[in-house]
Amino acid sequence: PLETLENPGLLRTQALINGNWVDGPASFAVTDPATGRELAQVPNLGRADADSAIAAAANALNAWRSKPAKERAAVLVRWQQLLVKHADDLARLMTAEQGKPLAEARGEVVYGASFLDWFAEEGKRVYGETIPTTDPTKRYLVIKQAVGVCAAITPWNFPLAMITRKVAPALAAGCTVIIKPAEATPLTALATAELAQQAGMPAGVLNVLTADSQQSIEIGQVLCESDVVRHLSFTGSTEVGRILMKQCAPSIKKLSLELGGNAPFIVFDDADLDSAVEGAIASKYRNAGQTCVCANRIYVQAGVYDAFLEKFAAKVGALKTGNGFEAGVNVGPLIDDAALQKVETHVADAIALGAKLLTGGKRIETAGGNFFEPTLLADATPQMLCSREETFGPVAPIFKFQTEEDAIRLANSTEFGLASYFYSRDIGRIFRVGEALEYGMVGINTGLISTAEVPFGGVKQSGLGREGGRQGIEDYVEVKYLCLGDI
Ligand code: ADP
Repeated sequence: PLETLENPGLLRTQALINGNWVDGPASFAVTDPATGRELAQVPNLGRADADSAIAAAANALNAWRSKPAKERAAVLVRWQQLLVKHADDLARLMTAEQGKPLAEARGEVVYGASFLDWFAEEGKRVYGETIPTTDPTKRYLVIKQAVGVCAAITPWNFPLAMITRKVAPALAAGCTVIIKPAEATPLTALATAELAQQAGMPAGVLNVLTADSQQSIEIGQVLCESDVVRHLSFTGSTEVGRILMKQCAPSIKKLSLELGGNAPFIVFDDADLDSAVEGAIASKYRNAGQTCVCANRIYVQAGVYDAFLEKFAAKVGALKTGNGFEAGVNVGPLIDDAALQKVETHVADAIALGAKLLTGGKRIETAGGNFFEPTLLADATPQMLCSREETFGPVAPIFKFQTEEDAIRLANSTEFGLASYFYSRDIGRIFRVGEALEYGMVGINTGLISTAEVPFGGVKQSGLGREGGRQGIEDYVEVKYLCLGDI
């Protein structure tokens, strides 16, 4: 599929350190999850390369943070324009290595690019304050300054947007960055970095270290242990988030963590059912169910349970699964065999514990592809694995509930707290439930909530900090208090 790139120069297979494209001592393969075929080899870097990237980012810091925000913004805006200009090629790279349908991949490019112009603007508004004095001989001032060198470890499910969502606020604030993209999706990351170079990013301001899963652990250790790196931003599993947090403890690093979710999607008796079905399909099956905000548990009130199931089953049955390059495909492959196995385990466990399989339920056998049928399970219960863990695949378990109190209690009975959704047309209920859900984000009568202008993030074990919105830049600045005496 990569022979179809309009701009073959975007297929970068070297890492980026200090403005130079570099090879490593070894390389590893990037494969297409729809076919199992090798797409390219990229450098498998380690400790020494991580040290060079940290040194480069540290060297570049003073010049970058001393520029007026407007000058940094100009680079970010040029980068955003280049990403949009090359959206088709970036989408091809993304579909090839990640699997999502081409239209979804293109959507991610535009969404991912939008963080750059959003934070280019926000960077100009990192305001300080003056505090009314309590001592006539003194004045109190507060300024905000770039945190310094930042590291970003990103996942494969949004190979471009998870990078720009972290890097845009960091760069806008005056920080320099080292990115360690997911081993499954380095090509999108490298193409994105190539366009940053074309936009005029100074050497060392943005560095990209590629590594396989083993070497990623080593690079992670170097980034976490470094005293020069002052902030780590990570998106991925809660399990890895905990490891990184621990590794960052000795250097008391600032942390932004966007971890796992277990999103409830509640349909009340008074919901607009067609809209709820649309929302559930979009929230559940987007990216083949591989997003941390995908509906994981669908709760439907008893009065509309059968009607919802019937309408939902018809829509699930109509989804087309296949290679993301094929026209009309809604559900692509899963990222790897481990993902397939997890989905199989969740389905088998649910059936063993009494769930009714209404649609799907098994792998689609193809040569080398990781496909799973869009699956619908009725009569799910809280004991099932699919209720307790994030399935991260195209499986929708439907739970029946009786009262609003039950729905809230069930929805909140998890250690996660990222996204939640509910459908209701009752204004009182909308406020009651919206306030009662213990989640960082609540979609009300919609299944899609992400956009650059809003604070994305979770509570409980879903993470720390917010990305996007006016809040998204706060993690990348330090507050400094200046006390002026002898007035
Ligand atoms: P996912 O479930 O999305 O694969 P992971 O948390 O396993 O999430 O991976 C997300 C990112 O974290 C990837 O870039 C991966 O290479 C990196 N990663 C995984 N384990 C570690 C680790 N122990 N130290 C540093 N980075 C890690």
